[in-house]
Amino acid sequence: MTNHQNSQCSDIRRTAIVGSGLAGLSAAILLKQQNHRVTVFEKSRGPGGRLATKRVAGGSADIGAQYFTIRNPAFRSFLEKNAGKNCFGPWQGRFGFQQPDGGWQAFPDEERYVGIPRMTAVSRALASNTDVRAEVRIDRMARNDRGWFLTDTSSRRYGPFDHVIVTAPPAQTRDLLANSGLMNLASILDGPVSAIHPCWAVAAHFESAPVAEFEGMRPHNAVLSWIANNSSKPGREDPGQWWVLHATSQWSAEHIETPADKVTDAMLEAFREVAGCAAMPDQTVAHRWLYARSDSDDRPGCLWFPAEGIGLAGDWLSGGRVEGAFDSASALVTTMTR
Ligand code: FAD
Repeated sequence: MTNHQNSQCSDIRRTAIVGSGLAGLSAAILLKQQNHRVTVFEKSRGPGGRLATKRVAGGSADIGAQYFTIRNPAFRSFLEKNAGKNCFGPWQGRFGFQQPDGGWQAFPDEERYVGIPRMTAVSRALASNTDVRAEVRIDRMARNDRGWFLTDTSSRRYGPFDHVIVTAPPAQTRDLLANSGLMNLASILDGPVSAIHPCWAVAAHFESAPVAEFEGMRPHNAVLSWIANNSSKPGREDPGQWWVLHATSQWSAEHIETPADKVTDAMLEAFREVAGCAAMPDQTVAHRWLYARSDSDDRPGCLWFPAEGIGLAGDWLSGGRVEGAFDSASALVTTMTR
């Protein structure tokens, strides 16, 4: 790095990051490695965002991201260095697409990784050396001659910061920018907001295996887009089997206001039809993701507005997946510190 770059970096000292999903945590760690002072604000009780696990009787179930790829070698070294090799590993199993005739087509041959013993093991490990302020929902931000000040929904104020990185899904990012009077930036989010879709997720526990033929499948079905044996992932010691079901974007959107118990019944009925079994679960838990997956083809990587000192990162800017969230954060940090 040249002296010129060094002096620029030393200007970027205090950064606020909104959101502690993989994008927010990655940006925080990468900036800290360049001696920046970083504070992460997270509206939920813990870090991880859509790398989510629901605690259930006897164990846990991954109700958000099911697995992640590691195609970018920089992502592997980042995880090994900052989360540790023990908190993630490959998920071995039979994965495939169900064909319209009921036949089976295996997924492309690729390693699929999961957190061990649960998905949030990765985000917990990444957050362990990071200043994450949980249960703080940032409502707006304003800049004066000392820098940016963030205000949460309880009217507490944080700052000053030289820069703010927002890693929330597009709708929440747009709300925050609009609340802060940054209408020109907020309007950029209109397209990405319409490209992100909801997903109903149900985890169901069975005392004995309801399905033996596969560990994960994308069904050919109007209700379900994914069914998987969560208990087949490494490190899951729960008795019996937890299965995770995800509804299609369209069905989820049509049932966005349907009560969770009715959604659960409908998704379980579809599960029995797809899996060809009559199994009844003894426990279920449902979760509604309002902003689950982006299907945008537009992949700028990240957005950096130097005049404002505001950066946007997240999966929706880089392919809509866990690895995309890392790629986006990494691209933003490179751009900011160039
Ligand atoms: P997020 O994880 O959404 O993080 C954003 C964070 O910002 C959240 O923690 C949120 O609480 C916080 N936040 C928002 N607004 C505020 C605010 N105002 N103040 C403070 N905090 C705020 N990807 C894969 O690679 N493989 C899969 O198999 C897969 N399956 C999925 C299944 C489902 C059901 C879902 C929902 C997602 C799935 N994904 C999958 C996508 C993957 O989970 C995401 O791409 C990735 O986790 C996004 O990370 P992120 O950091 O960009 O965003």
